[in-house]
Amino acid sequence: MNNRLYGNLIFELSRPGRRGYSLPANSFGKYSTADLPETLRRKEEAELPECDELTVVRHYTNLSHNNFGVNDGFYPLGSCTMKYNPIINEEIAARPEFTAIHPLQPDFTCEGSVAVISELRKMLSELTGLYDFTLNPMAGAHGELTGLMIIRAYHESRGDDARTKVLIPDSAHGTNPASAAVCGLEVVEVKSLTDGTVDVEDLRRLVAENQGTIAAMMMTNPNTLGLFERSIPEIAELIHAEGGLMYYDGANLNPMLGACRPGDMGFDVMHINLHKTFSTPHGGGGPGSGPVGVRKGLEQFFPTVGAFNGNFGVYIKALVYILTLGRENISMVGPLATLNANYIKERLKDVYELPIEGLCKHEFVFNGLKDKSTGVTTMDVAKRLLDYGYHAPTIYFPLLFHESLMIEPTENESKETIDGFISVMRRIAEEALSDPEMVKSAPHTTPIGRVDDVLAAKHPVVTYRQILSE
Ligand SMILES: *Cc1c(COP(=O)(O)O)cnc(C)c1O
Repeated sequence: MNNRLYGNLIFELSRPGRRGYSLPANSFGKYSTADLPETLRRKEEAELPECDELTVVRHYTNLSHNNFGVNDGFYPLGSCTMKYNPIINEEIAARPEFTAIHPLQPDFTCEGSVAVISELRKMLSELTGLYDFTLNPMAGAHGELTGLMIIRAYHESRGDDARTKVLIPDSAHGTNPASAAVCGLEVVEVKSLTDGTVDVEDLRRLVAENQGTIAAMMMTNPNTLGLFERSIPEIAELIHAEGGLMYYDGANLNPMLGACRPGDMGFDVMHINLHKTFSTPHGGGGPGSGPVGVRKGLEQFFPTVGAFNGNFGVYIKALVYILTLGRENISMVGPLATLNANYIKERLKDVYELPIEGLCKHEFVFNGLKDKSTGVTTMDVAKRLLDYGYHAPTIYFPLLFHESLMIEPTENESKETIDGFISVMRRIAEEALSDPEMVKSAPHTTPIGRVDDVLAAKHPVVTYRQILSE
């Protein structure tokens, strides 16, 4: 038996009559419940867990130990940019001058906060080469939708109602076609070449085929394979000549910081994930922010897509992060993220299959182990990494390869940390040959072993009552 209460639900720790609190005697007399209409009152007592305080403290402390975050260890989750979020961001965002204001307060009573918004807009414009930003959208996908709404409004304002199609490369993040569909636009898929970049000849054919109906081309750069799309100037010229606009998915702007700007490359509209590139903790569904920037002349089409000013706390963290780094250091972000990714790739490509050779940007994709004869899959490698205390890379995405293993180290990691990861990845490759069954049955040291994720997705058990009845 484990001394820790791992795996127990708070309901299982409950004992009738146990108390962890005491309330003062009711001093409101008969008015305490009398005002609640009968229909709103409980017919039975609420089934709440009954525990002593120490049990509750231990329960939640143990649960927190089951979590793994950037502050616990290396977290090379591709496409997610799990970089370190400096503590000073949190300290400043938590100051009462920011947290104690009300969203309906007149601007002149909270000029500092208004200045945070305008400063951040200016800095994002400078970093991206676009004219202005709305900070309103709450996440990346929300930014995509907002950007597409701007593009649609632009075409409609010119009476160009037939432009309902969006060209999207087959390597795109799944949110791109989803956002286009939610915006009522039709997706036209553009093929990739074997080197992973957009097939410009396929695009040329699609542009000719869909003349007069193309609203925009959505691109991610570096793309989902971590590759720089070298044909962007040519693509932008093609789309603009056709009357469409260029949309840039800047969720992963990290590798571009200090290298180049979407506005200079011919993009008209873009979003940024502040929670990836500009250091706000994410994962687990915390608040994000997906500002949308536009070329001059499109700012009149900014819609309001969220309540009040959006997720203001995230703006503070982004601004503090940008100011902390300063002009000189922020231009090191992209180059260092790129260096780290290439270093890992080159040190592992003799044992992991690298489907696309050459220089990558901030991330790259392996197609599982090079030696496939053992039957050890990408899933097994990912699970075995947990035994060594690492968060797994992104697996089975992008869909272009069967055994995708997508690694993004970010710029923050020390050489020692990266070397440690490389040696563990090499060790797992050796274990796959010497003891494949052990790797296939990993993880062996985590509180919970391998879960059936298909069952969990198809029949999620989300309430205690459901657990009891199953
Ligand atoms: C993360 C990501 C998104 C979506 O961002 P959310 O904040 O999760 O909605 C879109 N595109 C790309 C390329 C991404 O990496």
